[in-house]
Amino acid sequence: MQLDDLYRRVIMDHYKNPRNRGRFEDDAVTVDLNNPTCGDRISLQLKTKDGMVEDARFTGEGCSISMSSASMMTEAVKGKTIDQALDMASRFSSLMKGEAVEFDDYEELEALSGVNKFPARIKCATLAWNALRKGIDEDK
Ligand code: ZN
Repeated sequence: MQLDDLYRRVIMDHYKNPRNRGRFEDDAVTVDLNNPTCGDRISLQLKTKDGMVEDARFTGEGCSISMSSASMMTEAVKGKTIDQALDMASRFSSLMKGEAVEFDDYEELEALSGVNKFPARIKCATLAWNALRKGIDEDK
């Protein structure tokens, strides 16, 4: 898979130095999802309060795309309102369809834009975002 060099560096940085990796010691909304086509699995934990995503953590294992996407997603949604987080999830879906989308709120997400050219990998990139949607849904 060939990705733009700069994008590739951003992805590998998040893969090798994942942000927000770990688990909360106290209660948090927890969502376990996997992507059987690639073998990726993620356990996402969310802490929400007053309509905000206060904090997010994840554990799991999988390919560089799935793990870097989880690292970026948790970093992107922390401190955002639930509505902003869902809006980012929706823009990320558009990005995976090859649409031109901007992420002024977390530009590193654009590093995953090249994934739309590799349909088999789209599920890797969207796994963390699907977990986010599910977590927000279960938190209601
Ligand atoms: Zn994968």
